[in-house]
Amino acid sequence: MGGPLTITGVSYAALAAKAHALAAAGARGHVHTTPPGCLITGSPRRAIVLEATDEGIVYGFFDDQPIEDRAKPLAILLHGADSVPGDHETLEPASAAVNTMADRMRAGKGHFHILNPVCLANPNPGRWTILFEDVELGVLESASDERPLADIRLVERLIYA
Ligand SMILES: [Zn+2]
Ligand SMILES: [Zn+2]
Repeated sequence: MGGPLTITGVSYAALAAKAHALAAAGARGHVHTTPPGCLITGSPRRAIVLEATDEGIVYGFFDDQPIEDRAKPLAILLHGADSVPGDHETLEPASAAVNTMADRMRAGKGHFHILNPVCLANPNPGRWTILFEDVELGVLESASDERPLADIRLVERLIYA
């Protein structure tokens, strides 16, 4: 991953309104949840980052409180309901690489990102990348040409658990 993205700070209400406007227009967009020190923001604060791909603008709502509950509905809206499993759904097996990252996350060693082919933070443009920022091991990644749905569903569940 390169340096932090250039982010336009907005309120949560403005970020959510933008996400709904993108979805209503059928425009491309996606969100990231970022903890303090994340490579995407380079910020000591938490954030919900919204990439409005067709506008080429990255919006961010920064806060010190956990942001996952507020990010989840936006992820379902923009990433597709199939990407965010319900709490009681059984998951298909994920890849070995992503299962290893998931074990690291459960051990409190870092956090995940799902980076789609047009994501500005994706170190493999044109491909899907599941990326894990490990506090001890550095950046781990698993790249694929096809949308890795089983991996995505596991990661979304872990992010929003
Ligand atoms: Zn991060
Ligand atoms: Zn992105």
